[in-house]
Amino acid sequence: MTLSAALALHGAWSRSEKMLMTGSVLAVLAIVLIVTSLLAREYGNATDTAVRSANNVVQLIDADVQRSADLYDTSLQGMIATWRQPEVMSISAQLRQQVLFDRSTAAPYKGDLVVLDETGTIVADSVSAIPREDNFSDRASFAWHRDNPSLALQVAGPFKSRWGFKDWCISFSRRIPSPDGRFVGVVAASMRLAYFNRLFRGLDVGQHGTINLINADGIMLAREPEETERTFIGQDFSQRPNFQRILKEVNGSFTAVSELDGERRLYTFSRVGDLPLIVVVAQSRDEVYAVWKRNALLVASATGLLCLGILWLSYLLGQQLKLRHRAERELAELAATDGLTGLANRRRLDMVLRQEWARSMRSGTPLSLLMIDVDHFKAFNDRHGHHGGDVALRNVAKTLAANIRRPGDLAARYGGEEFMVVLPETDLRGAYALAEKIRIAIESLPPYASETHPVTVSIGVASQRPRSGDKQPQLLADADTALYQAKRNGRNRVEPRP
Ligand code: GH3
Ligand code: MG
Ligand code: MG
Repeated sequence: MTLSAALALHGAWSRSEKMLMTGSVLAVLAIVLIVTSLLAREYGNATDTAVRSANNVVQLIDADVQRSADLYDTSLQGMIATWRQPEVMSISAQLRQQVLFDRSTAAPYKGDLVVLDETGTIVADSVSAIPREDNFSDRASFAWHRDNPSLALQVAGPFKSRWGFKDWCISFSRRIPSPDGRFVGVVAASMRLAYFNRLFRGLDVGQHGTINLINADGIMLAREPEETERTFIGQDFSQRPNFQRILKEVNGSFTAVSELDGERRLYTFSRVGDLPLIVVVAQSRDEVYAVWKRNALLVASATGLLCLGILWLSYLLGQQLKLRHRAERELAELAATDGLTGLANRRRLDMVLRQEWARSMRSGTPLSLLMIDVDHFKAFNDRHGHHGGDVALRNVAKTLAANIRRPGDLAARYGGEEFMVVLPETDLRGAYALAEKIRIAIESLPPYASETHPVTVSIGVASQRPRSGDKQPQLLADADTALYQAKRNGRNRVEPRP
């Protein structure tokens, strides 16, 4: 592997390390994103399912209540029609009662049916042929019919019935007009609210869910399951924010904290037909999302583990890559270094020289070379053996390395006792000055062992501003010629290119 390839590989590896970490982080983010969006969708589905089932319950109640209300209304209208017959007063009280009230028997949880005259006094009663002595002029619904020409069905209550079961009731009533439209009385029927409880009991809204019926004024009419310790029936909820919202929106659903028990609930509500009644199904959020929560916990922890696993594996792989890079870097350095002196070796020198030549050609800057040869080294070797020679070569190399400062400069062992210094962006003058500095530095080293004179070097300096068409070997040849000149001129000298 060449140094450039090794260096390129080194670069690629560190990039690949980054890519590995970025890739795994992106993969983890993608997984988290996908799982989160799936869970969010499942959450939406859980909400939809809950709302749908609550809507089914609401519709069921709506249909049943509407049918009952129709039965009551049919009775009331029948009573009005009968009451307006002139003959009705001429028949016996028993017969009148039968004629007036026989159509009302089908209504469920039927309370009493009465006909009131214009003063609110009972004039006909479904309970007894001789009407009970009572006056309903204090009832708001009576006053409403008296003061209002509308012939529409009125739903009023809740109130506690004065007779019979004495339990909570609501009333359906209509105004009786005279042929010329004057107010002559009211027909009224009461329905026991137990009807709603029986109806709600059969419906499933979960263990902690409730079904509530409120009237348009926000008064609670029925609630299932019933609270044993307190009753909400007859209480005014119109000032509670949740009920205000329900009263305002009439149909819909939302999630909110219950003001009654502090639990988060999903409220689904709808108006019963065109009656002033609103059914509210309140489901426990914990119940609605119990399955989703369990699944979400499972999926989230599995995903978390998976992501941690991916990150951990990526980390381990990254560590391995790092070790491999280091080994390769060391190998590449080894392949580019001279074993004896620690300077760049010939292979590295060739590569750098090629690169710097090309760079100088591009930038138009001068490139200088110092060709350095140790003087009379053969004789030195003969006197001190190869070990002594090696020590001297290392000292020369050390001095070379110490004297080149610029990052682009390179000192290399050319071969044997010959060295070369590459000086990019340096002209002949600068190169000559540096060569002289090196020569003096080497001359100033302490003599080896028993030597009386220090080791010296001769340096040939060549410099060139490469132009297209110029050949790099020419620069080397120039430096070589200059070195030869230095040797010829007496050694321990610097000669520039002639
Ligand atoms: P000059 O250059 O001054 O003309 O004389 P010289 O004696 O240095 O000439 P030459 O280039 O012929 O000698 C080179 C000698 O350097 C040959 C060899 O003994 C010695 N030499 C070359 N490489 C090494 C090395 O790696 N270690 C040692 N100890 N000596 C080496
Ligand atoms: Mg030589
Ligand atoms: Mg020599």
